[in-house]
Amino acid sequence: MESKIKLQDKSFKPFIPYEKITAAIDGVAEKINADYKGSNDVPVLLCILNGSIMFTSELMKRLNFNCELVTMKLSSYRGTSSTGVVREVMGMTGSVEGRKVIIVEDIVDTGNTIVELVNTVKGKGAIDIKVCTMLLKPEVYDKTVKLDYVGMEIPNAFIVGFGLDYNELGRNYKDIYVIDN
Ligand code: 5GP
Repeated sequence: MESKIKLQDKSFKPFIPYEKITAAIDGVAEKINADYKGSNDVPVLLCILNGSIMFTSELMKRLNFNCELVTMKLSSYRGTSSTGVVREVMGMTGSVEGRKVIIVEDIVDTGNTIVELVNTVKGKGAIDIKVCTMLLKPEVYDKTVKLDYVGMEIPNAFIVGFGLDYNELGRNYKDIYVIDN
């Protein structure tokens, strides 16, 4: 793990090592596998780009039932804070009509994005929606949408790495770093 990383004008220090992230993903995958064991449905994993790309790939490797992958791209953050407006940058790459869907998110902060996502997926005719997020900031989350699978809870601080960015940079690091104020 790098001792510090610099992305544009900001510095970030080590926060969650890759081994801890993958252990959390093992736990999430175990729960999902137990819930879908023996089911005849083929659920759709809805990967929310770009942030959850690494999480989705690590998670998928651990799932032992038949599933399909659909992606879509949203954007709500500018710099290090949420704009409160969730923009759909790219629509879904496949249909979720009549399907069971597991939304795969990188991080839930205020919850604006997840509320919007659940409504969108419902509107497209999904028959069952579960939410899976690698990270949750419980101090900030103030919505009622049930978060079915949560990898790890973190304090309210801005992080990068493992798919998460600062102005599109930092996604490639396999560990997670926190802003160094
Ligand atoms: P929410 O809508 O829950 O406030 O924010 C969710 C989205 O904001 C996430 O999917 C992610 O793209 C972005 N986000 C929230 N917190 C962080 C953070 O600490 N770091 C980064 N890089 N993105 C974040």
